[in-house]
Amino acid sequence: MRPDREYKDSFQHKGMRKKLIELLREKGITDEAVLEAMNNIPRHYFLDSAFDKIAYEDRAFPIAADQTISQPYTVAYQTQLLQVKKNDRILEIGTGSMYQTTVLAEMGAQTVFTIERQKKLFDEQKRYYHFRSKYPNIKFFYGDGFAGLPTYAPFDKILITAAAPFIPPKLAEQLKPGGFMVLPVDEGDGQRMLRITKKEDGTIEEEAFERFSFVPMLTGKNE
Ligand code: SAH
Repeated sequence: MRPDREYKDSFQHKGMRKKLIELLREKGITDEAVLEAMNNIPRHYFLDSAFDKIAYEDRAFPIAADQTISQPYTVAYQTQLLQVKKNDRILEIGTGSMYQTTVLAEMGAQTVFTIERQKKLFDEQKRYYHFRSKYPNIKFFYGDGFAGLPTYAPFDKILITAAAPFIPPKLAEQLKPGGFMVLPVDEGDGQRMLRITKKEDGTIEEEAFERFSFVPMLTGKNE
């Protein structure tokens, strides 16, 4: 953990980040708004300072509570599928390092509601003062993402950043007609990225994309 959580973004970090953005482009990410948002968010800040020199490699890394910060390609891929629009109210399941959360806020979402089930990570997120004040439109919750946030529903977009065993029914309920949910769903030894669209008549349409590997979406909270 960075002891001070002080915000520092050096010339070297900016250079490494630019290279990462070029790599994402080569790997097929085409949405310029996604690439720009990721170019604006210093990923190294969300990692232990031991990772400073490798923070911009296209890899997942360990964070607290045996969880991971998603691979940049995965973050870009999910964000691109979500088609974030200004004024979207987005629900994110699995705050983790908070990196993906800030990318959604940087894309111009009106509000990002984000849920984490690991108390340790939820507490750690309180120390990210720089981003907390930069993005007051991020709302943090400690709880079980399977339940969603009925009080704040419906949402324009829902993003799950852990491997879901199935499409969580309560989350499908909390999606606005016309809205999208992007989630990796278990398929034996990996997950298939799905995009669920809720039609105006309430029925669900499903599109399937590439395979990925995520940490599991678990029920209940962890102290
Ligand atoms: N977007 C995060 C991904 C972290 S990994 C990042 O890039 O840093 C997935 C996260 O989902 C973990 O932090 C895990 O604790 C959390 N998670 C798993 N099941 C959950 C659930 N039911 N509700 C909320 N969070 C959950």
